[in-house]
Amino acid sequence: MNKLVVITGASSGFGMSLAQQLSDAGYSLLLLARRLEKMEAMNLPNTMCRKVDVSDREAFENAVREAEDIYGKTDLIVNNAGVMLLGNMEDQNPSEWNNMLDVNLKGVMNGMQIVMKDMKERRSGTIINISSTAGIRPYGNHAAYCATKYGVVGMTEVVREELSPFNVRVLYVCPGAVKTELLDHTTRQDIKDGYVNWRDSNDVNTISSDDVAKTIKFAYEMPQGVSLREIVITDTRQDQ
Ligand code: NDP
Repeated sequence: MNKLVVITGASSGFGMSLAQQLSDAGYSLLLLARRLEKMEAMNLPNTMCRKVDVSDREAFENAVREAEDIYGKTDLIVNNAGVMLLGNMEDQNPSEWNNMLDVNLKGVMNGMQIVMKDMKERRSGTIINISSTAGIRPYGNHAAYCATKYGVVGMTEVVREELSPFNVRVLYVCPGAVKTELLDHTTRQDIKDGYVNWRDSNDVNTISSDDVAKTIKFAYEMPQGVSLREIVITDTRQDQ
């Protein structure tokens, strides 16, 4: 049986590109996001799609167990689902902080905890958490988003140390700016405009979701005993 890969946030952007590439390579997939129709429209073979909010621990676990009953234990989970609600600390509505904390941090914690016990027992498996360059350096109007992405780096490092004696790989990927739906959810139009202006004036427009997905796939397909622990991938023209 083909190995099972779980991808969160598979209804657009990096997650969707990765789902397509891993399916083309023959893996079985569990795709999770809230927009079920977008995932089902890909019509991938050996793929289960479930409408799951990653902050809902029970629904997340139920979907993983359901897929494992059919395809076998999870060999890779990519904790990719995320939201970016840019704003400054002074004005931002705390409901936006809560949303990012729930999805970007607790969603990743849920994903790791749901699969790690089995991976430890089997002495095999890979967890890939998607952070950001905003997880390793600050950007204006990114305070709460940076908090979540620095958090992803911190917890990934800790869990990597905890699982390395068990031959389980835990790594994080920090992409730079890539055009996806991510910016659409920011509510402050002036901040969105500033972001687009920065991206266009520096011509940070070459890198695509497919490039990020290809990198994740490469890291996964290295032998189990080889861990690309930290990956930073940006457009060549991105200078920050
Ligand atoms: P998209 O907005 O295109 O994709 C985000 C995905 O996350 C969607 O599939 C969305 O699906 C899903 N998602 C959001 N909230 C939830 C939730 N509560 N439960 C389940 N799924 C959810 O953005 P990207 O592909 O760009 O982002 C993917 C990851 O990469 C994110 O973690 C992001 O922070 C990170 N990143 C992106 C960068 C970029 O410039 N694009 C740069 C650095 C990091 P749905 O709405 O259907 O639930």
